[in-house]
Parts: sequence; C-alpha cells; structure tokens
Amino acid sequence: MNVYKLSVQTQGYFLIEKDDYEQRTARRPPWYKMSDDGEPRYFAICPACNNPTQIIGLYKLPANIYHPYAKHYGKPVPGVGIYDREAFEWCPYSNKKPASNESRPKRLPGVLTQQILSILVKHFDKVVWLLSQSTGIRIDEKLAKNMLVQYRREEGWLYSRATLMNIPWVFAYMTDNQGVLFKKFGDSTFANELVARAQGVLEFTDKGYLIKPQTCKEYLDLGAYYTLHRSGVVDDVLTESMDMVFTLKKGYAEPQEIYRQTISFDFEHFNNLVNFGEWKTSPWNEQLLQLAREILGDLIA
Ligand SMILES: [Zn+2]
Repeated sequence: MNVYKLSVQTQGYFLIEKDDYEQRTARRPPWYKMSDDGEPRYFAICPACNNPTQIIGLYKLPANIYHPYAKHYGKPVPGVGIYDREAFEWCPYSNKKPASNESRPKRLPGVLTQQILSILVKHFDKVVWLLSQSTGIRIDEKLAKNMLVQYRREEGWLYSRATLMNIPWVFAYMTDNQGVLFKKFGDSTFANELVARAQGVLEFTDKGYLIKPQTCKEYLDLGAYYTLHRSGVVDDVLTESMDMVFTLKKGYAEPQEIYRQTISFDFEHFNNLVNFGEWKTSPWNEQLLQLAREILGDLIA
C-alpha cells in the first residue's frame, strides 16, 4: 500500500514518503526497530484495518521496485499495534480475502468495528455532506434519520469490508433502499436525466426538488440503493467503488430500475475533512450529530 498512519486511535493517514515518515517518527522506536538478525525495520499501521505494517524500500529499494510501500506485517508489533487477523484478511489491501458467497458478509464485533462506529457518529455531519456531494442527493433530516435507523438494523459497522477509510460510502451501502422522492438534487443535469427516464411521472422543480407532478394520479415512489461494492489495488493504490441504483415504483407494479451510476470512494476527501480540513459547524451540522448520537450512540462502548 502507498499509505500509512502512526496511531491506531485515529483515522488520518499519509502517503508514504521518506522525509515525511522520518519527521513524523523522529526515527525512533517503536517505528524504527532492529530485527533479531540486526536488520533495521520500519513500522507503521494500515489505515484501512489498523494492523501493523512494515515499510519496504524506505532507504534501499528492492530490485524492480520504484517507490517505497507498506505491507501487512502479520504479527503484533509492541508499541505499534495488535494483530487482528479477521480485519487483516478482509482488508482491501490484503490479498487473502476469504471467499464468501454472501453479498454483505459480516464479522464479529471487535476493536475495529467499534472504531468505525464511533468515527461515523462523531463525524456524521461530514459523512452526510460528503455523501450528498458523491451521490447528488441532498440528504435532509428525514432521510438522514431513515438511513441511520436502517444502518442500525443492518448492523452496517459489522460489514466485513468496512474499513476506517470507506466509512461514508459503506454507511450508505448498508442502508438498503431509501425513498428519495421530494428530495433536493444538487446537479440539475443528473436530476433531468432521472426525469427523462421516468417517462413523465417525475418533475424537477425550479427550487431543485424531484417531485411527482400533479398530473400523475398514481402511487409513486422513487428509491435509491447501493450495490456491487468492489475494491482493487494497482501499484499499491487502492480504489473502491459501488453502484448507485434508482428504482421507480408506479401504482401496483413492481419497482423498475431506471438509472445506475458508479460512485468512486474519495478516501482522501474524507481523510482531509476528518483530520485536516477547515470545517465550519452550523446548527444543521449539530442537528445531524445529535441525530447520529440518538440513533447509534448507545452502541458505542
Ligand atoms: Zn490493512
């Protein structure tokens, strides 16, 4: 992997770069350590699964390697971190992912699942903001509440592929199908595309809302859900994405898929919002944080 962090308590991570790593660690233990056979080793923590990693090629690149990278160490490292085998196996940076026929496999509660939950609650206003940007759907109070309730029902923090890096997107992924009729849409091109595909039963208003036109007398529901979460690592760089699917239910007919789009996870944006960004709070942000605490707060040990 091309990223690392130095505290198991935090979510923030950095790109692997020699000078930066030296400065952050001051070239001291527990990060700099001699192995039993006298070889220097450089340790860090995987920002996705919180397991210890070893940085390879920091001072001397192995043959055919052009930049330093980190790999899971596979054991606890005193002073650095514990080894959580299950988190390691499911880590998107690991190539040991267990085979699973389930589409949303779950693991047992543990340190990592608790941490995912507490970051989600503590930064829920940023999660909502980022998801609104990512999906184009402005999440209002009612939708935020419904999503939190559904996430709780599905125990989304136990999803095996949830990491410290993908918290906003996995939150949406674990909220099933949510009604989005009468919601505001930030991107008019996108909203108009949905209108075109709905063949006359949706209208996009001047104020930016997708609504059911008065001419439509049938029962109507527009839903959005997320599916096909996938991940891959190329040249030590992780990418993850999922599909966002819109369904339209008219009258007594079964819901029909009318639109599908791939959403790429912007890890860096979330990382920056949580750790480095200037973030102005507002009554709306406070309201979202309060909502997250009310619905999920009792689950945090
Ligand atoms: Zn990992």
